[in-house]
Amino acid sequence: MKIMKFGGTSVGSPQRMKEVAEIVSAEQGKRIVVLSALSGTTNTLVAISEKCAASQKPEARKIADDLKIKYYTFLDDLFGDAPEVKANKEFADEVFDLVDHLIDQNYNDQVNKMLLAQGEIMSTHFFTDYMNMTGRKCEMIMAADYMTLDENAEPSLNITTTKINALLAEVQADVIITQGYIARNASGGMDNLRRGGSDYTATIIGAVLKSEEVQIWTDIDGMHNNDPRIVQNTHPLANLSFEEASELAYFGAKVLHPHCIIPAQLHEVPVRIKNTMDPTAHGTLISAIQGPGAVKAIAAKDNITAIKIKSSRMVMAYGFLKKIFEVFESYRTPIDMITTSEIAVSLTIDNPEHLDKIIAELSQFGKVEVDHQQTIICIVGDMVAEHKGVGSKIFLSLDDVPLRMISYGGSRNNISLLVSEEHKKDALQKLHESLF
Ligand code: ASP
Ligand code: MG
Repeated sequence: MKIMKFGGTSVGSPQRMKEVAEIVSAEQGKRIVVLSALSGTTNTLVAISEKCAASQKPEARKIADDLKIKYYTFLDDLFGDAPEVKANKEFADEVFDLVDHLIDQNYNDQVNKMLLAQGEIMSTHFFTDYMNMTGRKCEMIMAADYMTLDENAEPSLNITTTKINALLAEVQADVIITQGYIARNASGGMDNLRRGGSDYTATIIGAVLKSEEVQIWTDIDGMHNNDPRIVQNTHPLANLSFEEASELAYFGAKVLHPHCIIPAQLHEVPVRIKNTMDPTAHGTLISAIQGPGAVKAIAAKDNITAIKIKSSRMVMAYGFLKKIFEVFESYRTPIDMITTSEIAVSLTIDNPEHLDKIIAELSQFGKVEVDHQQTIICIVGDMVAEHKGVGSKIFLSLDDVPLRMISYGGSRNNISLLVSEEHKKDALQKLHESLF
């Protein structure tokens, strides 16, 4: 069994969706096709939800009406004169009636989650009909019937395994279509795997079914060795280990959902990133194999907040870090980077939602300083920290870039630097020149 996931741009126009049908048909054997919503749809649903939250119902309805018109045009192009166009427009009508109904309701978490789910519900419905219409027999299974979260809003692999196997036992077709992103929470309500979560859907399915391969089809020819939007002459990486890919996905490479490598790694299911617009290109193969070569790639993560806690009470004291970490734990705010000296601790977070309260609590331990708009630059490779000369190359090339924090040796695969966002571009370019 292979898992093939197609992102929003890959199904974002009728032409693209037809190409996806070709790519799926070219594979042999049983395969599960995971689809995102058409590109832009989830953003639009978020906008509708935000208007509802702000009690701006007419504005929410206007956005929904405009979206519906776009879907009608999409369906006209996808199905042409075929009778399927009518049935699919009726399906879109049902979805937009539900959206209208949700807008009318008192806003709450379930209204929000139901709204956000509609994109994937539509894309999979249209694609399934298009496949069957063009003689490629396929069936659909609904993500809400198997993808299950636990109390911590993390996927429950056990429950998901049982449920998906029960559904698959009833399926005859070789091609099975399902929604990315959508999940049910521990209380049975509608939920999701957070933005970009369709990749996660694919690797969770891959892991629970112990698939031979998960393919992530996107609009780029793999993970690049630096950010192609900022640096010239980047190139796709043919192979990455699970660890390297995880670090890159977490620290800014936009190609993959930051958590999606975890389930694949758990069951050693290889993940292949492929380009829908160039299906024959090799892409990036992520597997348990650690290839040679010191530095593989550089990635950057923006909107980082750096917090420094300075206190003479820290000298020779024990238990100080524990108290600091407890503050972050109580606000469920993950820490990304951390460095310490004898009288100060610096750390970074990427979710500033509870920042004010965190600062207030930290202030009882010492003087707190906060820097906003920081960027983590992450240099990833095989035992980066143990390769001679890598450190000196990095620091020489960043001679005139102010470094706010440096994290070296935390893992075999990563050196992280914190710079202010204004220096990001310069730093990425200089590192690229010196390391590649
Ligand atoms: N449609 C969802 C999003 O835009 C999930 C995904 O595309 O991966 O975040
Ligand atoms: Mg994506």
